[in-house]
Amino acid sequence: MGIQHLRRSPISATVDFDAHGVQHGFLRLPYSRDDSAWGSVMIPVTVVRNGEGPTALLTGGNHGDEYEGPAALFDLARRLVADEVRGRVIIVPAMNYPAFLAGTRTSPIDRGNMNRSFPGRPDGTVTEKIADYFQRVLLPLADVVLDFHSGGKTLDFLPFCAAHVLADQAQEAKAFEYVSAFGAPYSMKMLEIDAVGMYDTAAEEMGKVFITTELGGGGTATARSIGIAKAGVANVLKAAGILKGSAAPAETIWLDMPNGDCFAFAEDGGLIEPMVDLGDQVEAGDVVARIYPVGRTGAAPSEICAKMSGILCARHFPGLVKAGDCVAVIAVVVG
Ligand SMILES: [Zn+2]
Repeated sequence: MGIQHLRRSPISATVDFDAHGVQHGFLRLPYSRDDSAWGSVMIPVTVVRNGEGPTALLTGGNHGDEYEGPAALFDLARRLVADEVRGRVIIVPAMNYPAFLAGTRTSPIDRGNMNRSFPGRPDGTVTEKIADYFQRVLLPLADVVLDFHSGGKTLDFLPFCAAHVLADQAQEAKAFEYVSAFGAPYSMKMLEIDAVGMYDTAAEEMGKVFITTELGGGGTATARSIGIAKAGVANVLKAAGILKGSAAPAETIWLDMPNGDCFAFAEDGGLIEPMVDLGDQVEAGDVVARIYPVGRTGAAPSEICAKMSGILCARHFPGLVKAGDCVAVIAVVVG
């Protein structure tokens, strides 16, 4: 930890996280620019507190082109009343707010990918300043953290809630209790391609109970996928004892991503022909997609094969693919 961590965050909240009742306000981040000399980024935030109890930190829009989280959390923020709550709920529907407004995965200001920017910097870029605020102000307040994701414009997922395998088994078990309570159609023991700089990792290293989702993708959301998000967040708040009642999770199918063989990447660019759809069973060696070179007719497509057996849980979404793109993700059904 360098001297940067002694510096105060430039972000100021217009809400008081210790006050009781419902407050709707902003995390205000000064951002001086051509069209606003003393301007700010105004990130919407809601805090609902009633008495003593656990704190849930609920976030969407970590990536700006994923919509189930923002839709469920803007809805929750306007509905939640203090009398229903025991403890505290902090809601940030669009964490990377500039990216959310632009409809892009990363910030149009600094190209910052929020989920690769932790622990952030108080003297860094706009995205790094937001990450730093979560790292040093909001995460320490939280007992349970739920961060919504989907596939964005370039991936599409089977709807699942997920947690990671952790060194601390008690922390891991607690996280999977919350995954179970969320009650998405699928529940995942998730493997990350690259966990460095992730919000997930920051929360887990702080000892927090952290769960996440992938609920769809393609740069949109559906009535069904938003319904899963809304039901899931209510179940999580009940499981935490923050909302009254017990979680009523829907039936779920448990999935595992046991190792890196679950990922398939394109080695050529071109036109993609999916050979299986989300949820389909595949065997090791099966062709999951063909990639046609588009420069001329008559050329054979390259074939992307599954390295393991399981079901297709994620796929590349756009019709054109580039070398290096993640084409398919296979998960093993474990229960
Ligand atoms: Zn995401």
